[in-house]
Amino acid sequence: MPQSRLDLGPVVTLTVDDCWKTHAQAFDQAFDSMSLRGVFYVIAGFVGKEVNRFQFLEWDTLRQMAEMGHEIGSHSFTHRGSALTWRTKATQLFRLVRSKGPVRSTKLARALLNLPEEYPVVHLQQDEEVVMSKREIEKGVRRPCRSYSYPGGEPTSLLANLARDIGYTSARTMRPGFNRLRQFDAYTLRTQAWDQWTTARIADKWVEKAINKNLWLIEVFHAIDLPSYPYSCSESSLREHLSHVRSKLGEIHNLTISETIELIRKDLPGGTPFETLS
Ligand SMILES: [Zn+2]
Repeated sequence: MPQSRLDLGPVVTLTVDDCWKTHAQAFDQAFDSMSLRGVFYVIAGFVGKEVNRFQFLEWDTLRQMAEMGHEIGSHSFTHRGSALTWRTKATQLFRLVRSKGPVRSTKLARALLNLPEEYPVVHLQQDEEVVMSKREIEKGVRRPCRSYSYPGGEPTSLLANLARDIGYTSARTMRPGFNRLRQFDAYTLRTQAWDQWTTARIADKWVEKAINKNLWLIEVFHAIDLPSYPYSCSESSLREHLSHVRSKLGEIHNLTISETIELIRKDLPGGTPFETLS
């Protein structure tokens, strides 16, 4: 655990979205085996339930994980996605191509288009998704829930403002990129997401970049070895990468999202406004 100031050194944060039971447990074990800590973003209304053949982690497991030093964040109440404009979708695709190159982007986009809707359930109102999930997680985990992750990975500016107003200290997107440690928007945190085509070599390079350029790297995982699921990673690549991260701990901090935000706030004279672009 960090005792003192961060000196704004590079940071790597490992995050898991949705938290399907067997997958989240596999990530938890992989992180623990390397003494690394991560952030598990749960869909509050699905905890302990089976939805559309997906079984979700239970509250007592989440509480144990929090005791081990992992952070439990919110990934909404029922995974309601943002209503995005075509312009936003085009920007998303452009960012994807810039980050992953045309070949991997095409494969990923095609695989995503073929996916049926994951959770065909009745959703709450947008603000209720953000508020209720925080309340439910704090009750279930018995700790403050400070971090939000947007279902679908792309917020509207309304949603980003909502996350801030409701009291989350950050919100994470799936926008590809790294975060600068002194100047960034805490409600549109950028990430590097693992997909079927991500190798340990690719992910190790993210870590090198964060170290060399003094950046905050946030990695996103969803599933392990799940055939035909585009955001799945292979267990062997994951383990190889985590062992690389562990070997770099003298050069990069492994922190949760809320720890990083808190340290940055302390580090900046007068704190930082963390304004959201609107
Ligand atoms: Zn999700």
